[in-house]
Amino acid sequence: MATKHVYFYGTSGTDGDATMKNLLGGKGANLAEMAKLGLPVPAGFTITTEVCTHFMKSGGEYPEGIEDQVAAALRQTEECMGMKYGDPDDPLLVSCRSGARQSMPGMMETVLNVGLCSKTIPGLVKKSGNERFVWDAYRRLITMYSDVVMEKSEGIEPAEGQGIRHQLEKIMDEVKEAKGYTADTDLTAEDLKDLCEKYKAKVKEVLGKEFPDDAMEQLWGGVGAVFKSWNGKRAKSYRRIEGIPDEWGTAVNVQSMVFGNMGEESATGVAFTRNPATGENKFYGEWLVNAQGEDVVAGIRTPNPLNDETKSDQNAHLASLENEWGDLYKELDDIRLKLEQHYHDMQDIEFTIQAKKLYMLQCRSGKRTGTAALNMAMDMLAEGLIDEKTVVTRVAPAQLDELLHPIVDPNAEKATDAVVKGLPAGPGGACGEIVFTSDDAVTVHAAGRKCILVREETNPEDVEGMRAAEGILTARGGMTSHAALVARGWGKCCIVGAGDIKIDMASRSMSVGDKVFKEGDAITLNGTKGLVYAGELAMMDSTENPRFQKFMEIVDKYRTMTVRTNADTPEDAAVAREFGAEGIGLFRTEHMFYGEGAEKPLFVLRKMIHAGSDEERNAAIDELAPFVKRDIKATLEAMDGLPVTVRLLDPPLHEFVPQDEAVLAELAEALGVTVEEVKARGAALHEVNPMMGHRGVRLGITYPHLTDMQIRAIFEAGAELKAEGKDPKPEIMVPVTCTVKELDFVKPIYDKVAAEVSGAPAVPYGTMIEIPRAALCADQMAATAEFFSFGTNDLTQMGFGFSRDDIGGFLQEYLSEKILDADPFQTIDQEGVGQLITMSVERGRATRPDLKIGICGEQGGDPASVKFCFDNGLNYVSCSPFRVPIARLAAAQAAIG
Ligand code: ADP
Ligand code: MG
Ligand code: MG
Repeated sequence: MATKHVYFYGTSGTDGDATMKNLLGGKGANLAEMAKLGLPVPAGFTITTEVCTHFMKSGGEYPEGIEDQVAAALRQTEECMGMKYGDPDDPLLVSCRSGARQSMPGMMETVLNVGLCSKTIPGLVKKSGNERFVWDAYRRLITMYSDVVMEKSEGIEPAEGQGIRHQLEKIMDEVKEAKGYTADTDLTAEDLKDLCEKYKAKVKEVLGKEFPDDAMEQLWGGVGAVFKSWNGKRAKSYRRIEGIPDEWGTAVNVQSMVFGNMGEESATGVAFTRNPATGENKFYGEWLVNAQGEDVVAGIRTPNPLNDETKSDQNAHLASLENEWGDLYKELDDIRLKLEQHYHDMQDIEFTIQAKKLYMLQCRSGKRTGTAALNMAMDMLAEGLIDEKTVVTRVAPAQLDELLHPIVDPNAEKATDAVVKGLPAGPGGACGEIVFTSDDAVTVHAAGRKCILVREETNPEDVEGMRAAEGILTARGGMTSHAALVARGWGKCCIVGAGDIKIDMASRSMSVGDKVFKEGDAITLNGTKGLVYAGELAMMDSTENPRFQKFMEIVDKYRTMTVRTNADTPEDAAVAREFGAEGIGLFRTEHMFYGEGAEKPLFVLRKMIHAGSDEERNAAIDELAPFVKRDIKATLEAMDGLPVTVRLLDPPLHEFVPQDEAVLAELAEALGVTVEEVKARGAALHEVNPMMGHRGVRLGITYPHLTDMQIRAIFEAGAELKAEGKDPKPEIMVPVTCTVKELDFVKPIYDKVAAEVSGAPAVPYGTMIEIPRAALCADQMAATAEFFSFGTNDLTQMGFGFSRDDIGGFLQEYLSEKILDADPFQTIDQEGVGQLITMSVERGRATRPDLKIGICGEQGGDPASVKFCFDNGLNYVSCSPFRVPIARLAAAQAAIG
């Protein structure tokens, strides 16, 4: 049988369903599902993503047999709708809509009113009895079609402001101005008819081609352009940010048109079945009378509120659907409930009312803020709509980040007045300097400064700048505008529709009343409330809320892998405990030589480094012992009852060699030698490649007394705490090993100390696996090591041969040229370095079946890496304190599968 390329949906039978997102795209799959549910969906058909892939690979060819399949589906559509495509008396019009697996709001193209031409216009005028509507639909078709099909999809890239769409819109503005109109709806049928003639002439003039006057030509033009829009500039850039593979392709949905612009009894709208910003279980949406789809989102007119709950300062004066057309609102509200009962999730819907009849045009799981995701999940659990496991999957680990994100300090807020208010489109607080263009946002961000992107409204071309900015502020647009949608998806602070702002691009400034803000001036946004403040307000961490706590309890119930933290101080350890850390996976002893309170131990360490003999060195080491013990003891105490993996000294010693003359002099005096001699001893420690030099266990082998001292400090700290009635759980980790012989060299020192110190707890003896050779020889390593901890920073560095400190020089090119899919220092390279991990686990456990294994690299807090660790049977991940909740959630989601 020939491959099925076209899937029909409608009252006469639907081919697809919601599970077929990969093939039909999200939009197509859900249109099919809604049709199956018996909801009022205008009939149509979906051309699959596979056709798109074929189309791209073959340079614009369609697979065989597609014409027949489209023709058959079109006939079926015509039968359902009782109209005929291209028919002079009763013409059916269609839209050609894009729709990938994952929603990419506004990134690809859709063309409406396809099929209007000189042959069908009179028939539609006659049938609708509304000449104005037909010419309005036609001018929209010319605008969209010339832009999408004749310009963009042909790869024509006009200069800024010179695109055909812009030129046509300018003509319309001129007409409106000449006639003294303020709104598009003021244009009469005659005006619009004239306008269409002018439009067609302009299209011919600018693009050198006639606007196609044949319905079939328009249809195929539309389909092809939607496929091509997959490789449009915006879509590509969005995919890069979102990590969507280029190979997926988009489907094309050809759907019977219904008209929200047919007059005062028609309308169009968008809604969320619950509030996407707060999660409140309230129907939330916007609508516009006598308008077509995109008008609501584009912010051309301020949309009306759907109901009282949706009213805001901007739209409170406008009629709600609930009050205006109560019966239609009721019908829509019933659909809302039906959809939630069916999908068990919040849906984002598009609807159109044609002559008081309601149609559903789209539904998909709605984007939401982290706060909303949390609240909805907990509400739906209480409502019995979802179970606990589903609750766990409803908040993305990255969204937790947002929940733990800073907010504007309420006290600072109380002390000042907001300069302007807009709609709270993206949560949390943000402050930074004002920039007015996407490019400037990128530049300022790259320079390491924070900025707020201020725009009239954003469009898909702005995504890079929106990404780079701390927050986004727009003068126009509603809660479903582009800026709001994108910011919400990212959990980024965003305020839209702050209508009192006047932006003046010429002077690069914005004003609110008589206050003027220039580019570079600081402002602060409270995206949760929609308030804008002058200057830089204090920020604070969002306090732990009880709902979040409850959610994390459920998360922990389904989590099987332990989550530890990387902490070097008792303070860090305490913070991490609050975030739910179940131990320390990496305690770096060298921390005591950095920062506050480090002078004393650092000086002793320097004495050790610059010692002239073994005696001198050992004396310095003994002098260091109390500092080391004090530090370890404090951290063990902060983590009482939980394991703490103490890593023996790791960095190359020359990192601590002083340059400061005063310090050098002091050191010379302490050692009883000249400053020159001290300098010479420091210089002798210089290494060409210190990362691979004298460090880690190598120090422990050349200076056994140093090893002895550290191990003794650990045992003694443990013994002392036990004597104090505490429950210390220290573990010893040997770093930078490449052969078991190193572990075997250090082990007798460990055994000797263990025998000498009485009253200490059991102290497991393990190693970091961070050198590829150690990974390869994991079976041997495990003969001595009681546990492994993957040091994935070094393992990645040495696995790739990429210097961690110098990757900045080429990483950007590697990412943009797709040589790397992601920065391997942030997320484990599962394909390559991951093999070393998988292999070590297998080989290590072959030798020692109960070998405990964890990871302590940066990647331990990255959700994808956490899942990888889970899949490889690791016992724990360890990450920075603030990522602990994220890792807990990622681990629970991995366990649920
Ligand atoms: P996007 O993916 O950018 O949301 P859509 O394909 O959903 O693009 O279409 C853009 C707008 O056109 C939406 O508001 C949608 O509701 C409207 N629209 C699409 N197809 C039809 C149709 N057949 N009848 C009426 N409106 C439509
Ligand atoms: Mg849509
Ligand atoms: Mg290391």
